[in-house]
Amino acid sequence: MQPDINSSSLFDVYQSLFNFNHDACYALDTDGNFILFNETAVEVTGYPLDKALGMNFVSIVHEDFLEETIGHFNRVINGERERFETVIIKRDSGEHVNLLLTVVPIKVGEEILGVVGCAQDISKNKRLEDMLSGKNRILKMMAKGASFQEVLDEIVFFIESFTHGAPCSILLADEEGKRLMHGSSPNLPPAYNKAVDGIPIGENVGSCGRAAYIKESVVVTDIETNPLWKDYRDLALSYNLKACWSSPVFDDDHKVIGTFGLYYCRASSPRESEREIIEKATNLTSLVIQHYHAKKKIDFMAYHDALTNLPNRRFFDEKAKKAIGGTKVEDGEKLCLMFLDLDRFKFVNDSLGHSIGDRLLVEVSDKFKQILSEGALFSRQGGDEFTILLEHTTKEKAQDIARDILKTLEEPIVIDGTDIFISTSIGMSFYPEDGEDVEMLLRKADVAMYQAKKQGRNNFQAYDVMLDARAYEEMQIENELRKAIERDEFVLHYQPIVNLCRHEIKGAEALIRWENERIGMVPPDQFIPIAEETGLIIPIGEWVLKTALLQLKDWHANGMKGLTISVNLSIRQFYQPNLISMIREALELAGVEPHFLTIEITESMTMDVEKASVILQELKKLGVSISIDDFGTGYSSLSYLKRFPIDHLKIDRCFVRDIAENKSDENIATTIILMAHNLGLSVIAEGVETENQLSLLKQHRCNEAQGYHFSRPVPAEEFTLIKVPSL
Ligand code: C2E
Ligand code: MG
Ligand code: MG
Repeated sequence: MQPDINSSSLFDVYQSLFNFNHDACYALDTDGNFILFNETAVEVTGYPLDKALGMNFVSIVHEDFLEETIGHFNRVINGERERFETVIIKRDSGEHVNLLLTVVPIKVGEEILGVVGCAQDISKNKRLEDMLSGKNRILKMMAKGASFQEVLDEIVFFIESFTHGAPCSILLADEEGKRLMHGSSPNLPPAYNKAVDGIPIGENVGSCGRAAYIKESVVVTDIETNPLWKDYRDLALSYNLKACWSSPVFDDDHKVIGTFGLYYCRASSPRESEREIIEKATNLTSLVIQHYHAKKKIDFMAYHDALTNLPNRRFFDEKAKKAIGGTKVEDGEKLCLMFLDLDRFKFVNDSLGHSIGDRLLVEVSDKFKQILSEGALFSRQGGDEFTILLEHTTKEKAQDIARDILKTLEEPIVIDGTDIFISTSIGMSFYPEDGEDVEMLLRKADVAMYQAKKQGRNNFQAYDVMLDARAYEEMQIENELRKAIERDEFVLHYQPIVNLCRHEIKGAEALIRWENERIGMVPPDQFIPIAEETGLIIPIGEWVLKTALLQLKDWHANGMKGLTISVNLSIRQFYQPNLISMIREALELAGVEPHFLTIEITESMTMDVEKASVILQELKKLGVSISIDDFGTGYSSLSYLKRFPIDHLKIDRCFVRDIAENKSDENIATTIILMAHNLGLSVIAEGVETENQLSLLKQHRCNEAQGYHFSRPVPAEEFTLIKVPSL
């Protein structure tokens, strides 16, 4: 007859629940000795039934949890029901097992005979939880800026908390991926760490070297017998390391960046739980290594120049600051700061293109690096500017180095088969005499560099106080000059040009004036050459022309009908390709006929006779007049003038000055006038200050004159009030 569930006893039902439960079920007598033990309990604790029965629960509870667990037991014995967590030690393996227990008293009537409980193995969840919180802790450390070493150590400590005393190690692959370097293994013997630092990545190099090589985990359960360890066996065994399991650590591109290893003091293989942990550990280690690699790169970039890889300005400043503090001035030591600027680099960039320019910078910096010794700090400030810091040096040594630098550039640099000759100008300043801090020393080296440029480039100069004031002034002028047009700081003054026959004002020369609020009034002789050098003369010259023509238009409209205007042109403007169109537009804009405009150029601009005559012909075609200014001071002879379509000659005021006292000056002046007339040119005398000068010039039939005798250059509104004094 089939057994019927209804006829089965309650005892059978309970017994099934007990025996076949997924959880470990057990019962204890009032002394805490096991009296019942189901199959799962055998699995979870590792104790077979015959060993378990009669054993006291105290003997399997982890000592850290014992007191608490006994407390729960006592309360249940007194009739309470308890639910709590504890940890037991598994038989043989010694593994810790986390249990969640539900325990109730065994009551018969009023009497309590013992306790019965169910224990769920929550080790896996617990591990996951711990793993997660440990991982978070490590990520937090990283975010807070802990050092690479601190974080690696923390990973090892953290993983070791799961390995029951088996020490762990992290090794890091070197940049070439050829070797494994020490990373972290705080619980391995230091001498062992040292011995394996730098082991090659290879087929038969212990567990780690091989794991990195084959890109897979390597388990060596017995170092003593495994051939992988033959070269390291004695070393490992001498530290009682008997088994080792290693896993490669990959980056996101599956490149091996390190290994994570686990050592045992007895021949053994990893447990399942450990496999899981190691997998997590390698992931975490990968994250950490990649983070610090990236950070290292970012830190490098913050302190280095991307093009040349040289230290940058920030690095230099910080280092120089420290170096100043370390200079033993009392022993006669000096610190030298060099400022280098490549000569005419802009020209290379403009003519050969920026990519060649960039490559040239790299080549040049490599050359410099080769001559500088270890102690010198060489950095790129930006553009084509470099700095060098020499510590514990002397003036002589510094000069030798500067000389060497100039010498290395004597050979051309070959880029794409093209020889490029480049030179540099070097300025030097010295601590302590030239300044107390980096900023001051750099400024002074810069001033000295500027001087080196003035000396014709391709040389070095040490800072000199005497030169500083002038150089500084020029730099200041340059800086202010850049903003002068927008700030509307220029004005034009006008000086009358008097016709000596008719004795009336025939024209006006426009002369620029610059009033800067910081520097004050700057005479044109001071700023025009700087404007030339920097190219600022182009916009300034355009402004002058437009302003002068608009002014002339105004005067024409107010009765001064035939008045002409003379405008000075600088050499840079003269060779500007769009010169003609620029002048044409300015004339059109003002609505002035071209023949009212005279362009003044100097002899020196016509040195390139071919080019100059083409430009002059075009100017002529445009319909403007042409004057040769400051005539007599240049090298040229009158004869070449034949080739140019010129209208006027202006005799330089140095001949006019002594014309009344000095016979030879008079002769020069008269010769110029005569020859000019022969060539069909009219002559204007500059700088006429006295009546004597004037009457002599008139005698020699000079056509026009200009000078303080008639008027100084004056603002436009005063110009109309000028009266020509009668003879
Ligand atoms: P420059 O073209 O030869 O101009 C004549 C200079 O002689 C002016 O000096 C004028 O003030 C000065 N001067 C006139 N009469 C006398 C006199 O009787 N005695 C003395 N001792 N000097 C006299 P300034 O205005 O200082 O200009 C100097 C130079 O600056 C000019 O020489 C010209 O080369 C240049 N310059 C002035 N304005 C401009 C401009 O708008 N563009 C360019 N490119 N150059 C300019
Ligand atoms: Mg002039
Ligand atoms: Mg002149």
